[in-house]
Amino acid sequence: MKPPRRAPKPEVTSPENIRVTNGKLPEESLWIDGNDLPAASGKTRELLNPATAKTLSRVAEGGAEDVDRAVKAAKKALDGPWSRFSSRERARVLFKFAGLIRERITELSDMETTNTGKPVRDSYDEAEAVANTIEYYAGAVSRHYGETIPVGKNGVNMTLREPVGVCGLIVPWNYPAVIASWKLGPALACGNTVVLKPSELTPLSALWLARMAGEAGVPEGVINVVTGAGETAGAALVEHPDVAKISFTGSTEIGQSIIRASAATLKRVSLELGGKSPNIVFDDADMPRCIEGSVASVFSNTGQDCCARSRAIVHERVYDEFLEKVVKRTQKYVVGDPYNADTDLGPMITSGQRQRTLDYIRAGQREGAKLLCGGSVPDGIRGFYVTPAVLSQVDPGMPIAREEIFGPVLCVLSFKTEEEAVQLANATEYGLSGSIWTRDSARALRMARAVRSGNLSVNCASSVHLEAPFGGYKKSGVGRELGMKAMDLYTEVKNVFISAD
Ligand code: NAD
Repeated sequence: MKPPRRAPKPEVTSPENIRVTNGKLPEESLWIDGNDLPAASGKTRELLNPATAKTLSRVAEGGAEDVDRAVKAAKKALDGPWSRFSSRERARVLFKFAGLIRERITELSDMETTNTGKPVRDSYDEAEAVANTIEYYAGAVSRHYGETIPVGKNGVNMTLREPVGVCGLIVPWNYPAVIASWKLGPALACGNTVVLKPSELTPLSALWLARMAGEAGVPEGVINVVTGAGETAGAALVEHPDVAKISFTGSTEIGQSIIRASAATLKRVSLELGGKSPNIVFDDADMPRCIEGSVASVFSNTGQDCCARSRAIVHERVYDEFLEKVVKRTQKYVVGDPYNADTDLGPMITSGQRQRTLDYIRAGQREGAKLLCGGSVPDGIRGFYVTPAVLSQVDPGMPIAREEIFGPVLCVLSFKTEEEAVQLANATEYGLSGSIWTRDSARALRMARAVRSGNLSVNCASSVHLEAPFGGYKKSGVGRELGMKAMDLYTEVKNVFISAD
């Protein structure tokens, strides 16, 4: 999911020193039709800083009535000034939007660290990725168009690409700003208007982004943000008759419920869901490189990553060597204050998510897996920290080998033959990502074809390339985000035939 980590960042501030839009956290308000509005119910929700387990702020608790207000604003904007923007004007405001994000990048990265607990250097990379994404889609505006198609009758047949309409964008808590940008970029580039529903745990960056877009010249009502719970605000968005499309990123279970709930209004639905990705290590792998990539791919973002290579499937000849080296490297990970530039792993998002991770580890141990390191709560620090865990002697039938834990847990299995590696890799209901480590390029190609995942990497652990399609097979999703493919998700194709008779 993440781009590779780079040098430490220029500025590291502290939670007390966050600089935000207009000098205050954009809290306790929804963002509808270009205005800060309280929730219709007047209710608010407490946000916790995961690094300290203390209150960070309160945000508006939007519900169905607020979603309705936001959809009305988006509908009005769709038929209003936004529809009169030429494609070049649309591109221009998106470039400006990206520029503003870059200018105020530490505001966004600090906010993301404080709301999610991500190490500040990761948040900085992510904030850059947000600016890059909006910039990419500003450029994509002029590169997405219809075709002229020779047909059997006398005339000209052409296709037009038209906006789908009001899009509901539903985003999870693990990469709040990045995933919002993956949806905002193409939705706006294609001329749609949106209602963005961030996770109730991490809504701050969505509010900030909407304000930045407004400052860049995106007209009122084009981006609306309703903060609130999934089962109320999220569900109201999915059921709303004037929402034409839902783009959802989150758990497979909720993705399935969204398909069911959107059937009545027959929405266009695209889904980016969970994963249990394999990390396949052959006996000719470049071991130092493989170890570095393997730990980064499963532990970054404290394992809360849909592309985490959480199942290492290792050739029996290098199994012991892999275990020894992977444990040694894991034990060097620095777990702690996300504002410290040396920190590798911040806290998990909630105490509940940490408990779920610990429960999986204990259940795995009870079933016979061996805990080689980690899996404990560090003494003496508040916040939802856990140390990264490596489990060996994992049987493919165990829940820890099949289910998405969404925490820093690496399960290590072994194989003898290439066929067995493929069979183990494909033995989950997910198919999002995966890595193959080998120096044999013919084998790499065979494996890349045989593993049923939407994103595979050879001799590295990167899943996400802004310019290339990203998405899942099987229960990992429907549709592809990023690259030019995403533009297809946010347009209808109209076929027009002009008779020459
Ligand atoms: P989640 O499914 O609980 O929630 C995701 C979003 O959906 C949140 O905004 C939530 O409020 C909303 N939601 C919840 N119930 C809803 C409902 N009934 N109707 C409409 N919206 C509803 O997921 P999460 O816990 O926020 O995120 C973790 C999950 O997301 C993991 O399974 C992870 O693999 C997945 N994920 C996938 C990708 C990907 O690109 N494939 C990326 C990041 C996370």
